[in-house]
Amino acid sequence: MPIVAENKTPVGVTLVLADVTNLRRLDEMKSGLLAVVSHELKTPLTSIRMATLLLLERRIGALVPKQIELLEAARDDAERLCMIIENLLDIGRLESGRAMMDLKAVSVSQLVDGATEIMASTFRDRAVTLKTAIPSDLPKVLADPARIDHVFTNLLGNALKFSGPGGVVTVSASRNQGEILIYVEDTGIGIPESFHEQIFDRFFRVPNPEAPSGAGLVLAIAREIVEAHGGRLWLERSVEGVGSTFAFTLQAAT
Ligand code: ADP
Repeated sequence: MPIVAENKTPVGVTLVLADVTNLRRLDEMKSGLLAVVSHELKTPLTSIRMATLLLLERRIGALVPKQIELLEAARDDAERLCMIIENLLDIGRLESGRAMMDLKAVSVSQLVDGATEIMASTFRDRAVTLKTAIPSDLPKVLADPARIDHVFTNLLGNALKFSGPGGVVTVSASRNQGEILIYVEDTGIGIPESFHEQIFDRFFRVPNPEAPSGAGLVLAIAREIVEAHGGRLWLERSVEGVGSTFAFTLQAAT
């Protein structure tokens, strides 16, 4: 902070230095603990999943309808837990910088086509239209294709999850100097303004008993991956009952 004399001439500067070693150490401990706990949970959960799958495949014997119903519920919950643990492990790796990005020059259409092809049938099943609008003269971007595919899957998965039949989801892109901006726009339920920043917090979900359930990790992961590429991810616009647009940037390769 500058110190100025009465006649406005600068006479000095105040510098405030804070020792953040302990905070940093605590953060590292928290990430380490998270990774250990997630690993410890993963092994027994894998056995539970295998057991339910074997039973459901009738390898052990025939099942009555009520047994099938209960086992299917157990399998679905085990799969949900597995996904949460995978996401937690991912966040831990990304935060600690252990997840190395394998950056190469790739075309945006190639990235978008890869992600949308995988999701096309799920969109069709839910009667939601998936559109892309990528200019053909867009420069390539520096990206780790598998990681950016994960970002698309997360954003498109959310766009679909929060849209009803007849909804439209559009992926578009444009250039802004050395950056490429990518947008994922939906015509879904939208997000109340008071939650616009919180949705990126881990485990945060907008309280809405009618909305589909999730663990609140999807956006946190997408943001971590984009930031590990040196980009930014944010909510560009969201209006309740109208829809939401998420945006992220990647560096142009040229
Ligand atoms: P979740 O696993 O619950 O989807 P996310 O991190 O993906 O967690 O999102 C956090 C919350 O943000 C969601 O619970 C939801 O309320 C809101 N949200 C995210 N994406 C959308 C979207 N496209 N439309 C409406 N709400 C969304």
